Amino acid sequence: MTITATADRSADAQKTAPEQAARMIGGVKVYGTGEAAVRALDEFSADFTAGKFTAIMGPSGSGKSTLLHCLAGLDRLTEGRVLIREVDLSTLNDRQMTLLRRERIGFVFQSFNLVPTLTAAENVVLPLTLGGHKPDRGWVDALASSLGIADRLGHRPSELSGGQQQRVATARALVTRPDLLFADEPTGNLDSKSATELLSQIRQAVDEYHQSVVMVTHDPRAAAFADRVLFLADGKLVEDLADPTADSVLDTIRELETKDAGFLAHMHIGS
Ligand code: ADP
Ligand code: MG
Repeated sequence: MTITATADRSADAQKTAPEQAARMIGGVKVYGTGEAAVRALDEFSADFTAGKFTAIMGPSGSGKSTLLHCLAGLDRLTEGRVLIREVDLSTLNDRQMTLLRRERIGFVFQSFNLVPTLTAAENVVLPLTLGGHKPDRGWVDALASSLGIADRLGHRPSELSGGQQQRVATARALVTRPDLLFADEPTGNLDSKSATELLSQIRQAVDEYHQSVVMVTHDPRAAAFADRVLFLADGKLVEDLADPTADSVLDTIRELETKDAGFLAHMHIGS
C-alpha cells in the first residue's frame, strides 16, 4: 500500500513539474591548458523550461557563446552535464550527437556560418535537405517574408548585407521547427525594425509551436521579448530575472555594475 501511494505521488509530481527542454548541471568549460587555460564556464547550472524563451546577457568574454555551444552539443564540457530533454549528451557519440542536433536543435551562429556557394534559399532549406526531407514551400515563403528576405532568396551570402545574412541564418534555424532554438546575438547586425520582426518570429515559435528558445543578446529591448533573462559574469550565473522589461533589464545591469565594476562598460548598450 505504501509503495502504491508513493508511486502515485511521484506520478503526480511528474505531471505538475515543468518539462525541461535543456539543463546544464555544474557546467565547467576550460579552453587550453596550464598558464594559458581559460575557464569560460565555471560551475554553471540552469534549467531551460520547455516552451519558454530565455535570454542570456553578460559582458563580452563572460562565456555566453560557450554556454550556447555546450548546450547545443556543438562543443563538450570539461566537467558537468548537459541534458537535452531526457538525453545526457555525454552518453552520445559524435554521430548520435549530429543526429540529435539535426532532429531537435536549431542554431543561429554569431558569425552566421552560411554556405558561401549556396543561394540564400538553398541555405535556408539546408537542414531539411541534409536530413532527406522535402521543404514545405509555404512555410519557407512565410518565414522569408516575415523576416524580410523574400526578395533576397536567389542571392549568395556574399551578395547580402550582414543583417540580411543574419536573417537568412535565422530562417535556416527555424525551418525545421526545432524543439530547441539557440541564437547567438541574432539581432546584432539589425536595425530596430528588422530586429523587431525577427524577435516577433522567435516569440511566435515559442507561443504558437511551443518551441524553446535560448538567445544571447546585448540589447535590453531584445531581452524584453524573453520570459526570463540569465546574467553571466566570468562563466558564472549571477542573476536570474523573470518577466523582463527593457527597464528591469537595465536596472539589473546597473545593479550588477555596482557589484562588479566593468559589467556595464562591456555590455555595449546602445551600440
Ligand atoms: P562571450 O560569448 O560571452 O563573449 P565566449 O564564450 O566567446 O564569451 O568566451 C568566453 C571566454 O573563453 C573568453 O575569455 C574567450 O576568449 C575564451 N574562448 C572562447 N572560445 C575559445 C577557444 N576556442 N579557445 C580558447 N579560448 C576561448
Ligand atoms: Mg559570444
